[in-house]
Amino acid sequence: MTEKQAIANYLKYTGNTSININAALVDCDGVLYDSMKNHTRAWVKLMKKNGIRCTRDEFYLYEGMTGTEIIKMKFKQGAGKNITDDEALALYGVKTRYFHELGDMPLMPGTLTVLSWLKEQGIKCVLVTGSQQATILERIDNDYPGIFDAKVTGHDVKRGKPNPEPYLKGVALAGGKPGQCIVLENAPLGVQAGHAAGCFTIGVTTGPIPEKELYKTGADITYPSMQALLEALPQLFEAMRTE
Ligand code: MG
Repeated sequence: MTEKQAIANYLKYTGNTSININAALVDCDGVLYDSMKNHTRAWVKLMKKNGIRCTRDEFYLYEGMTGTEIIKMKFKQGAGKNITDDEALALYGVKTRYFHELGDMPLMPGTLTVLSWLKEQGIKCVLVTGSQQATILERIDNDYPGIFDAKVTGHDVKRGKPNPEPYLKGVALAGGKPGQCIVLENAPLGVQAGHAAGCFTIGVTTGPIPEKELYKTGADITYPSMQALLEALPQLFEAMRTE
């Protein structure tokens, strides 16, 4: 898929006549941080301690849901238990502890350069994450200084990704319309949410999930790495201006 084709497809299915981007809505895990390996390890440990069968791979597919949503779903499916909000939050605290015990969370190579390029073009950046982990949310402004104009976290929404609610909140905070926003995502459910919100959704495969899975859930275009996205950004924005 070329940039020109992706934009032509987007305009066709949205019925928009042009595309003028003024905001980027940016996911956290797997986009800002190379954190998914440790998240999946922590999830498996929590489930095993509670006697719930699971595989590491399935947690890559749940990425984007809020932590408490994942716990409620797995306890229902795996143990027939209905978990209360308070119980889910307590279990999420345990998962967060396991996550931190696995060590530091590296920055995703290339993302800061991508976001800095967007800011130089006058594009606002809004964080849109299902994460409710205070320690992650607190460090973003240190790791990505001057990048984010606003943030939507797992605490701000009733329904996490794949529901479009988090991205629609991001659109509102950016002060524009969905057709004026790009979404930057790495996970199928996150891509699904960005697409359902009506944004031009860019999938970057920074983990084990192949590009075709991101196209299946609605990505307008995908790239195999942040570096590949960085190299393509000038032609993507040029194609938008001339479409
Ligand atoms: Mg992600």
